[in-house]
Amino acid sequence: MKLIFLGPPGVGKGTQAKHICDHYDIVHLSTGDILREEIKKASEVGLAAKSYIDKGALVPDDVLLDLIDVRLGMQDVQNGYLLDGFPRTIPQAEGLDNIMTSKSHNLDAVISLTADENELVQRLIKRGEDSGRSDDTPEIIQQRQAVYWKQTSPLIDYYLKRNALKEVDGIGTILEIKDRIILTLSSNA
Ligand code: ADP
Repeated sequence: MKLIFLGPPGVGKGTQAKHICDHYDIVHLSTGDILREEIKKASEVGLAAKSYIDKGALVPDDVLLDLIDVRLGMQDVQNGYLLDGFPRTIPQAEGLDNIMTSKSHNLDAVISLTADENELVQRLIKRGEDSGRSDDTPEIIQQRQAVYWKQTSPLIDYYLKRNALKEVDGIGTILEIKDRIILTLSSNA
């Protein structure tokens, strides 16, 4: 099973991704987590990414595409994976198509999690109070929402056109949403 999770910051992609990966026994690949790990290690990629992340801007596409190309070649993901937070731009989606084709990987579905924007900002402000993430301040949260609508939401259309997109309502309890996603993935609709 090879999946992409799409949705604005705060919609619960990370939380749901963990449940869905447990359910299908596939690997959770969160580019946000990978980049934060690189920052912790003070690697070259981490140092390059930090200034963008702290501003709420996107890290350049070529950095992400190199990371994903290497990661999708590793042995542990050959059974399946869920991409969380990637792709985030049309060039990333096109690059991902090439990477997957070169590795003979088939995309099973793109899950688009939806929620009202005000609800999202409130959730993120609350999360910022205990996450300690440098980009969970109210100004940067607004900035990340704006980046999502401008740069990432065109991907909804991109994947709709190739019949890969499945929309799931992201409002409800964690388990309700998890069940919705599994139901959506198991139906052919
Ligand atoms: P959220 O979904 O809550 O915004 P993430 O953990 O997915 O948080 O990402 C945090 C930050 O990491 C983003 O604001 C961006 O700067 C960077 N980032 C993560 N994934 C990508 C990506 N695919 N392309 C560019 N930048 C990315």
